[in-house]
Amino acid sequence: MRILAISDRVQEAIYSPQIRDMYGDVDLVIGCGDLPFSYLEYIATMLPIPVVYVFGNHDKVQHMSDGRMVTAAEGCILLEGESIMTQGALIAGLGGSMRYQPNSINQYTDSEMRGRIAALAPKLLANKVRYGRYLDILITHSPPLGIHDGEDLPHTGFKSFLTFMHYFKPRYLLHGHTHLYRRDTISSTCYRDTEVINVYPNRLIDWNSDE
Ligand SMILES: [Zn+2]
Repeated sequence: MRILAISDRVQEAIYSPQIRDMYGDVDLVIGCGDLPFSYLEYIATMLPIPVVYVFGNHDKVQHMSDGRMVTAAEGCILLEGESIMTQGALIAGLGGSMRYQPNSINQYTDSEMRGRIAALAPKLLANKVRYGRYLDILITHSPPLGIHDGEDLPHTGFKSFLTFMHYFKPRYLLHGHTHLYRRDTISSTCYRDTEVINVYPNRLIDWNSDE
């Protein structure tokens, strides 16, 4: 299966009719947050495949060019605290960033994120019973603590994601939020059974589900 993962920045080649030539062989699109809903909707319109996504810390009500005010991307699947089976992959999502402003949406303390994981856990346990595994891919916006994260509070990763990988063993954790400015910055790290990938601003992932 071929996955196009995107985050944080609109890419011209994707936001144009070229997308059909460049990404016509993709099976699934995964948005890791902080993307305009109109961008996700465009992709969902142009490619006949599922587009799943989570929120970033900057995703609030968005004003569309036709005057609509929207809180979600139409035709796309929002995976906040949810798990689904699509294209043969079990996917769950936990968006948002570390809390750095009180009362802001899509920001969480580590203990609030632990609570969200606890709320998601029964769905992952149901996956384990039904499919023999908790999940294949966890979509987040922020990275885990100590992996591709930053020094300042907004860019600090979640410790609770390390615990998540320890217990639920996803094949991939895909995140954004950490902008890459240098080509040699590490953007893929193995942690236990999981490959943690910073997808900023876009990344193609070929996943052989038989492995
Ligand atoms: Zn962000």
